[in-house]
Amino acid sequence: MDSFEDTLRSLREAFNTGRTRPAEFRAAQLQGLGRFLQDNRQQLQEALAQDLRKSAFESEVSEIAISQSEVDLALRNLRSWMKDEKVSKNLATQLDSAFIRKEPFGLVLIIVPWNYPLNLTLVPLVGAIAAGNCVVLKPSETSKAIEKILAEVLPRYLDQSCFAVVLGGPQETGQLLEHRFDYIFYTGNTYVGKIVMAAAAKHLTPVTLELGGKNPCYVDDNCDPQTVANRVAWFRYFNAGQTCVAPDYILCSQEMQERLVPALQNAITRFYGDNPQTSPNLGRIINQKHFKRLQGLLGCGRVVIGGQSDESDLYIAPTVLVDVQKTEPVMKEEIFGPILPVMTVENLDEAIDFINRQEKPLALYAFSNRSQVIKEVLARTSSGGFCGNDGFMHMTLSSLPFGGVGSSGMGRYHGKFSFDTFSNQRACLLRSPRMEKINDLRYPPYSRRNLRV
Ligand code: NAD
Repeated sequence: MDSFEDTLRSLREAFNTGRTRPAEFRAAQLQGLGRFLQDNRQQLQEALAQDLRKSAFESEVSEIAISQSEVDLALRNLRSWMKDEKVSKNLATQLDSAFIRKEPFGLVLIIVPWNYPLNLTLVPLVGAIAAGNCVVLKPSETSKAIEKILAEVLPRYLDQSCFAVVLGGPQETGQLLEHRFDYIFYTGNTYVGKIVMAAAAKHLTPVTLELGGKNPCYVDDNCDPQTVANRVAWFRYFNAGQTCVAPDYILCSQEMQERLVPALQNAITRFYGDNPQTSPNLGRIINQKHFKRLQGLLGCGRVVIGGQSDESDLYIAPTVLVDVQKTEPVMKEEIFGPILPVMTVENLDEAIDFINRQEKPLALYAFSNRSQVIKEVLARTSSGGFCGNDGFMHMTLSSLPFGGVGSSGMGRYHGKFSFDTFSNQRACLLRSPRMEKINDLRYPPYSRRNLRV
């Protein structure tokens, strides 16, 4: 017997009592999440600084406030989301009641990575709670300070018979995945995404996979280079580049590259000063393993900005590489760090052709003063999300579904999409027991008379 068996059995028993279904219970748990965020704001900020040297501003906007706004949105809309959805009827069911019931799946597993360790725990959790499920949370073992708060503090704000936090790395998560869940929500790299999906397939458990990849950023010649540079530098170096929706590389003409590089230098100096290592606004690489991987990528192309690194501080300077070749590792693997390669193309067609030869990305960006160019990139490519003339701003809208396509993942969440993800859409028809005579038309023995219906 493994150590998870008792926990999972008691959560399933709690779900079977029906305790999580009433709106009042769901609202009370969501309010608990809100209190958790308010009561522990300082501690959470400190933990994020410890794990990733996140600045208070970045912690607030990308972890705490975003989680709080999902809690608030769910609380405001809970009852309307839970309502049965009436659907249209045909002639044979005119007197009946036809609707979609949003019912909870049951026991849900949420597996979380280290880069936004609070956001990527709480935002899916809000959806799972709102939909009436019991939940097992598996935080990342890599972001230790947040893992500790999630394990020791968060449960005090939730009904512990219905929600559990379990700890462990790959081995323990593998053990956990041998059990049957009713839904699995995994965020992390694509390689482990395949392990999760294979384990889920054994039980035919539905999954959402929020994965990674390389997000292209096309920059048209008709752009103000400084505006582009400010926006790109902000969202590339945010969280030291460890963001799944960050632009992974720039595609532009040689002429635009020449205008963009000094503008990027200007933006980097404005944001992080002459020596970014001393800036309180730049995060650090999560650990030695990722630091070494990123250091290897600094050897690709030609460094025109940054390039410095300091292992003792897990510091990599905001870096821009030019003259990179598509065969180099920096153009082959997800960078996930503060390194921005620029690859030149002859024209828009070549850029689109390059993008379409790669795996479908989680996000795709296009910059141009000509709306026709943005529309063309949008129309001729595919990605989980798209933003014209900016970085990851599309994901700040909870009215837009968030998720990947192809190797960047499957399934959607944020706002009501989270509620729908964690709900079984049950197709219901309640028929009238009366007027049995009409049914004679469908019963054997069949004759020409039946076909007249
Ligand atoms: P990670 O190493 O923390 O792993 C994620 C989770 O998977 C952890 O809880 C870990 O315990 C578990 N895990 C790791 N190896 C496992 C194994 N062999 N079997 C079972 N479970 C295992 O985080 P990571 O994967 O390095 O996270 C970064 C990646 O996640 C990047 O590729 C990034 O693009 C992606 N990401 C995607 C999104 C999104 O919303 N699409 C968001 C954040 C990160």
